[in-house]
Amino acid sequence: MQRDPRYDILFEPVRIGPVTAKNRFFQVPHCNGMGHAMPEAHAAMRAAKAEGGWAVVSTEECEIHPSGDISPYVEARLWDDSDIPALALMCEQVHVHGALAAIELTHNGPTSSNLYSREVALAPSHQPLKYGYPQHARAMTLRDIRDYRRWHRDAALRAKRAGFDIVYIYAAHDLSLAMHFLQQRRNHRTDEYGGSLENRVRLLRELISDTKEAVGDKCAVAVRFATEEFLGVDGVRESEAREVVHLLADLPDLWDVNIAAWHMDSQTSRFADEGYQEPFTGWVKSITRKPVVGVGRFTSPDTMVGQIRRGVLDFIGAARPSIADPFLPRKIEEGRSEDIRECIGCNICVTGDMTSTPIRCTQNPTMGEEWRKSWHPEHIAPSKSAKRVLVVGGGPAGLEAARALGQRGYEVHLAEASRELGGRVSLEARLPGLAQWARVRDWRITQLQKMANVAIYRENDISAADVLEFGAERVVLATGCHWRRDGYGRSNGAAIPGFDSARVFTPDDLMRGRLPDGPVLLFDDDAFYLGSVIAEVLRAANREVTYVTPDDVVASWTTYTQEYRHVQKRLRSLGMPIITGHNIRSVDGEGAQLVCVYSGREQRVSCSSVVAVTARLPNDGLQKALEALSADWKAAGVEAVTPIGDCHAPGLIAHAVYAGHRYARELDEPVEGEVCFRRRASQPPMT
Ligand code: ADP
Ligand code: SF4
Repeated sequence: MQRDPRYDILFEPVRIGPVTAKNRFFQVPHCNGMGHAMPEAHAAMRAAKAEGGWAVVSTEECEIHPSGDISPYVEARLWDDSDIPALALMCEQVHVHGALAAIELTHNGPTSSNLYSREVALAPSHQPLKYGYPQHARAMTLRDIRDYRRWHRDAALRAKRAGFDIVYIYAAHDLSLAMHFLQQRRNHRTDEYGGSLENRVRLLRELISDTKEAVGDKCAVAVRFATEEFLGVDGVRESEAREVVHLLADLPDLWDVNIAAWHMDSQTSRFADEGYQEPFTGWVKSITRKPVVGVGRFTSPDTMVGQIRRGVLDFIGAARPSIADPFLPRKIEEGRSEDIRECIGCNICVTGDMTSTPIRCTQNPTMGEEWRKSWHPEHIAPSKSAKRVLVVGGGPAGLEAARALGQRGYEVHLAEASRELGGRVSLEARLPGLAQWARVRDWRITQLQKMANVAIYRENDISAADVLEFGAERVVLATGCHWRRDGYGRSNGAAIPGFDSARVFTPDDLMRGRLPDGPVLLFDDDAFYLGSVIAEVLRAANREVTYVTPDDVVASWTTYTQEYRHVQKRLRSLGMPIITGHNIRSVDGEGAQLVCVYSGREQRVSCSSVVAVTARLPNDGLQKALEALSADWKAAGVEAVTPIGDCHAPGLIAHAVYAGHRYARELDEPVEGEVCFRRRASQPPMT
């Protein structure tokens, strides 16, 4: 197919200092939990994006010195020459596809932990560390500043030797010395590096000049700069940011602009729409003549064209859209925009970095598996048999299994009990703020509709007898799960007395339109997003709500998705009492008896109903019924029955999509050994 001429502008080459990007698609630096610990996996993940058409593919933050050690987070590292080969691997693989490789050099100063290196941390002025032990960073002397500039310069030279085309100076996210010197709350110096804005910007200016002088003949020099911190005079704010850009205007070869801190930059679709950064970064281009890249969870080519035509950006920056679909640019180029696997803005990808494990994505189950499982984001091995597959259940697990099996060429039959496909995704996408989650369903349906070898049967509630009568050789059960009504969960090892009454509701009830009468006690023992979303549903329906959680804070797991602060703010705006650190001892007709998890002290809350967001149970009835009939399988032609997704073990949507994809990849492809992926074996001891 031909690309739509409206999108031609996105494929214009753009010059960045001494190098030229082949188009306007720019994968900005993003963390991935693999970094220096898994160089092959990291290189393969970046290479997939280069193959998918991104003109620039960047690393994550890259530590330049042991005194800026970001452990336990696993990022890139260039402490000395021994770190060059791991990054050279990425450059080689990115260059194969004609993309430019960029590296984001950083020294995190007082936002380093130095947990691994045990060095004393450095800062513009004396201050406590933000991460790691409750320790302090010391104020840098002028000699330290000279050393730091030398480390940065040496790292730039190493980056050039590794093969990078663009070298970043990082002054964003409240995560690097170049930004910390700008911030009045962190920089109390009285010498030429403190006080006036010109003094505070001096170090950033010197770093740009040092880097240009060291590597500027071959490499472009980029500045990643946060234009707003939302902290008033304590932080970088637009009025000062404008002056910074004025002062440095054409010194760097490229401006990469965003907002800080990370939770503001990487906002989920629940809290921000596509293009949400424009009000804060859209002015930069009017001050500099150098190209500008910015982000905003862009997935629509029309929006991208708008950004370029309206003079907001020169490059469409992307972290998450390039994770959800490494082939996004190619699909637009080939006139296949409807095939773009659009990011849903859920931030499960962020949890990889937060847990120092390989990156995962809800939409793209191959993310992080490019090397260790040789999973290509677009290609999959053809089927090795003519066996028919019956998939029962059209939620994310069943849809992805059917789609990937269909892509392999199997004859697939997908049966779904309800009229609507999508399972939990269709239900949850109707909740406040979660509409974009429907993209998980919609992309898969779009793909399935193109496959002649996949038949879909809606309104087909499949029984064990139906399965045997159908007689497909392979049966995949993707029948989902349901929320428990008895109170059992992380904080209660047995049913809570009184929860057997009709006054106890579950999220399934609410998602199916069955709302409790108020006043309602919302019991959140799940600690992720759903409790707070249910609170919004109840308040929108004018129910009086008391939010109770045994945790110390509401929605504690949302720290892993960078949503934590946004959730707290939203809940406080709903105007309801929040009782943390309390479990439920019992409920009765008039209320609930709460107990403090620390003191054991009890208190009474009156309510006429309870919504329990506690734990889930697999819908395994069909599986059990089939197992009871296993003697009949052979005669029916059934060889294997495999549960996947939430009916196997309830989890995230990402887990269900992965399970569906994995089933399809592994069908007729036996996996050998106990470890089903490639890895670096434990390192032999040095002799
Ligand atoms: P997962 O996240 O594992 O994909 P979901 O709960 O999202 O699970 O989806 C499960 C889907 O399976 C739902 O759409 C549900 O209607 C469907 N389903 C459950 N049992 C049957 C059955 N016996 N026959 C057909 N569809 C079923
Ligand atoms: Fe987008 Fe979610 Fe995938 Fe991250 S995990 S790239 S937010 S779909």
